Amino acid sequence: MRINDISYTRLDVPAALSSVLELTARMSGASSAEEAVQVLLDYSRLERKVMSTLALSSIRASQNTADEFYEAEEQYYAEATPPLMEKLNGLYKAMLESPYRPQLEARFGKVAFINAEIALKTISPEILGMMQEESLLEIEYQKLQGSLTVEFRGETYPVTKMGRFKTDSDRQTRKEAYEAEGRAYLSHKEEYDAIYDKMVDVRTRMARTLGHANFTPLGYLRMTRNSYDPDMVRNFREQVKRDIVPLVCKLKAQQAARLGLEQISFYDDGIMSLEGNPKPILEDEELYKAGLSFYRELDPKAAAMINSMDDMGAFDLYSRENKMSGGYCSTLPELKTPFIFANFNGTAGDVEVFTHEGGHAFAAAIMLEDDEMLGLSEPTLESCEVHSMSMEFLAWPYLERFYGEKTETAKLIHLIGALEFLPYGCMVDEFQHIVYDHPELTAQQRHEKWAELEKVYRPWIDFEDLPFWSEGRTWQRQLHIYTNPFYYIDYCLAQTVALEVFGIMTQQGWQEAWKHYMAYTGQGGSETFVGLVRNAGLRVPFDDGALEGSVKAAEQYIEQHKSLLK
Ligand SMILES: [Zn+2]
Repeated sequence: MRINDISYTRLDVPAALSSVLELTARMSGASSAEEAVQVLLDYSRLERKVMSTLALSSIRASQNTADEFYEAEEQYYAEATPPLMEKLNGLYKAMLESPYRPQLEARFGKVAFINAEIALKTISPEILGMMQEESLLEIEYQKLQGSLTVEFRGETYPVTKMGRFKTDSDRQTRKEAYEAEGRAYLSHKEEYDAIYDKMVDVRTRMARTLGHANFTPLGYLRMTRNSYDPDMVRNFREQVKRDIVPLVCKLKAQQAARLGLEQISFYDDGIMSLEGNPKPILEDEELYKAGLSFYRELDPKAAAMINSMDDMGAFDLYSRENKMSGGYCSTLPELKTPFIFANFNGTAGDVEVFTHEGGHAFAAAIMLEDDEMLGLSEPTLESCEVHSMSMEFLAWPYLERFYGEKTETAKLIHLIGALEFLPYGCMVDEFQHIVYDHPELTAQQRHEKWAELEKVYRPWIDFEDLPFWSEGRTWQRQLHIYTNPFYYIDYCLAQTVALEVFGIMTQQGWQEAWKHYMAYTGQGGSETFVGLVRNAGLRVPFDDGALEGSVKAAEQYIEQHKSLLK
């Protein structure tokens, strides 16, 4: 069965609602542990059906943002699913209060119960209308992003097609490309500002209705932060400021020297050498085949996964008009398959579709083997990013098929990029703490805050006086800030773990690093993030000094290989 051929039927939400009510009554009235277990098994089947239908609708909507049918479906779910989630809480409550909880925990894992407790705190009947408002705003942002086009040198490009020009080895081309993109954003600036204003407002109202001072604590609960709090995150950000920012400043000074510049302008930031960054030697179909061959060689389980995805057509990779920007890995639990979406654009990002999204797919495929798993015991998002970001490093021995003679340079640039990402990611996180701790800020004040954070986290960048880029507005390009509040530090936490996997790989060998990876991934979501990391023999990012070891390994590697960059 090819995913394209699957016929879609709208989820019968009222029927799903009554099933949940029935399951809740059965859970409360269960007279034995077996009965209670059976309720959760039945629930897990219903959940797979719901998740699969919602995922299919969302995939198809992203494949063609001009498709009015799926657009209407997404609108429908945006309004119909919050009441379903609210009813689910009744079931969670019955499950938590069940006299058979110890037996349920033994069968389904204790994390599901910790997460159910958190879920109960994120929703109440009073905020359902606000949740719907929020979903519609998210759709509005995605539509705006999906339809954004850039006028560049007499042609019109979807914004997703600008990557090639923005990383061009000719400085003037890059500058013009960034200017053109900035103009495109500015021509919709009122919309970008207004959508975010409304989002901050509705999120704050929801939080206050639930008894919080502002959205920040609710944001943490919604992200199922089950093993750390804002103070621990602040401590992590401070470590990044202390251990990473100075190192990246040093690397940027070397980069500026290579480029023959006094200082890095924002349109130089991604350009590691005068030769330009290595690009994949393959395009579209050929690149896809190379991606398949990587997983076929990596590991028997990975081979089985990629072959099945190939058979099912579980990929949509090539860029075209009206496709949503970005990339993701989704899962269709009933079909037991991951699905990978991307917009190939001729840059290293195309390879990352396999090394990064493929890592998500691999972990998902391992978890999909378990028919009885509850959504509540899926790993939280930072835990999932460890699957993908570590895979990016573990893919190193397989990169030659993508980069040919530029492979060693591509690895070096990947490593430097991983280090550079940490300040950016922490900046996104700190920005959101400021925004939600101070919902009274105006749009203009938010842009000013962003511009200030740039000076702390990326002091090497000169934004010149160019419109948009120098105005503290660049965060408006960051989807997560709009649609997934507080989902960004996850990438930094995961990158920190991935850098440790890199350190193990370079110091103790690939096999040893793979052993840690499988020890981590094989746990699924049976532990919290902190627990998963510890159990796999890796360092927890919040611990003091968590970054020091990997920073040393990375610095050493860069020092040894820096002559690759000219
Ligand atoms: Zn990811």
